[in-house]
Formats: sequence, structure tokens, C-alpha cells
Amino acid sequence: MPAYICQTCGVQQAPAPAPPGNCAICEDERQFVGRAGQRWTTLAEMQGSYRNDVAELEPELFQLTTRPTFGIGQRALMVRTPEGNLLWDCLSYLDPATTAAVTELGGLSAIAISHPHFYATCVEWSEAFGGAPIYLSSRDREFLPRPSPAVVHFDGDEAEPLPGLRVLRLGGHFQGSTVLHWAGGADGGGALLTGDTIAVAADRRWVSFQYSYPNRIPLPTADVLSIAKRIATLSFDRIYGAWPDDVIPVDARAAVLRSTARYLGMLTGNWPRG
Ligand SMILES: [Zn+2]
Ligand SMILES: [Zn+2]
Repeated sequence: MPAYICQTCGVQQAPAPAPPGNCAICEDERQFVGRAGQRWTTLAEMQGSYRNDVAELEPELFQLTTRPTFGIGQRALMVRTPEGNLLWDCLSYLDPATTAAVTELGGLSAIAISHPHFYATCVEWSEAFGGAPIYLSSRDREFLPRPSPAVVHFDGDEAEPLPGLRVLRLGGHFQGSTVLHWAGGADGGGALLTGDTIAVAADRRWVSFQYSYPNRIPLPTADVLSIAKRIATLSFDRIYGAWPDDVIPVDARAAVLRSTARYLGMLTGNWPRG
């Protein structure tokens, strides 16, 4: 039975004889149903029309992108460690060339995904790499359309799939929205891989937060305060966001803290404006 993939969000459903009637992730107010209505594809149908590119961003960090762009268009990031490699976030497209390229870099020991918009075809990726565990916050359990024994739904605010790689639940965009803290990143200064939990702004000096990015719904004060409080406890110098080129190369922790202050200031009318 085919496992259908939503063409708008790129998330794969459980195998079924026919495409589902709707995509629960796209019908949620944080996403949208495509203008042409709900459309589906499969990995088999996609073969040959897409490719995944791999690029090294810094030592032991690789970016994977699908070309042409598919679904939401996010990148996935792969962190290499002496104890194994982790895939952060996920792509919908997977083919033998991608599996070979990732295998050449040491394969995958674990997968962690920031939130449901990027669940993609995570079960296929896990199966391609020996059933690698997929770390997801249990808070978003209801949004996972394709269950698998590889999924580790962790409770609480933290999981450590591999030594030096901590998945931290910050909430906000989704109840279970997470970031990945990589202690060894940025030449030992620490890097934060943030998905949609913390969005890198176009000026690459500030960040922002949204309940819904496509529908422009902001986060409430309490959520931003909670994110700021957690960030203040972390040590990191660099941020990698969800899209290629989304990076704050230095002083990223300070950028998040001043950005939470600006966000809260704008919500309450206490931020100076030009
Ligand atoms: Zn969808
Ligand atoms: Zn999202």
C-alpha cells in the first residue's frame, strides 16, 4: 500500500489503499490547504523529478536540501559526532543517491524533528538507516500521521539522543516545539538548531517567533517569556534556522534575548519606533 505524502506540507501519512480525504496538519490554522485543494503524491512518483543536495556548513555539520523545492521547503541538518550522527528535521524526498551520500558521511544513529510541519517522511529515513530512533515531543503526538516503532515520544522538556546533542522543548509554535543544542558546534561555542521554534530574521541579526508563519499569527506574551527564560540558561554562539542561509553566525544567544525583549515590547506598545 502506498504511503501518501501531502504536497503542501510534505508530511507522509500511514500506508493506505487510497489517499486520505484531508491532511490534518494543513487543516490546522498553523498551515493551509493548497490553492488547488488537497493533493497527494508518493515517494515512488517523486523519484527522478527531485534530488537532494548535501553541503557542509561547518566542521561536522551538513545541510540537506531538496531541489526543486518540495512542500514547505525546509532544510534538514546532519550533525556528526564520535558516538553517531543525528538528522535534525527532515525532508520529504528520499532516494538511493541520498541514502548513499548520508551513508558515506557515516549514516544516521538518530533523528530528531523540531515540530509536526517537518515530520516529512521520517519513518522512511529511519528505515533507510537501520530503524534509527526518531525523537519527537510527546506533546505533539496527535499530529504524527504515520506511527512507527522507531518513534521515541519523549515527555518533559529534554531528551539526549546522543552525547552532546540535547533536544530541548521550548514550545510556542507548537506545544512540543523543540530546538537542538549542539555543545560542540561553532568551534566549541555551541550551536542551536531551531527549526520554526526560533526563526532567523531576514537581517540575520534578530530572530522572531510565530504561532503561525503562513497565517501571520503571533505568539502570546507568556510563550515568548518562557522561551527567553530557557534560552538564558543555555550557552551557544550560533543559530541555524529552518531554511538555507538562515544563520546567525556569532552572538546568537544575545540576539535571541534582545529579540524576545523587542517582541514583548511590541506586544505591549513599549518598544521605540521610528
Ligand atoms: Zn499537509
Ligand atoms: Zn512550522
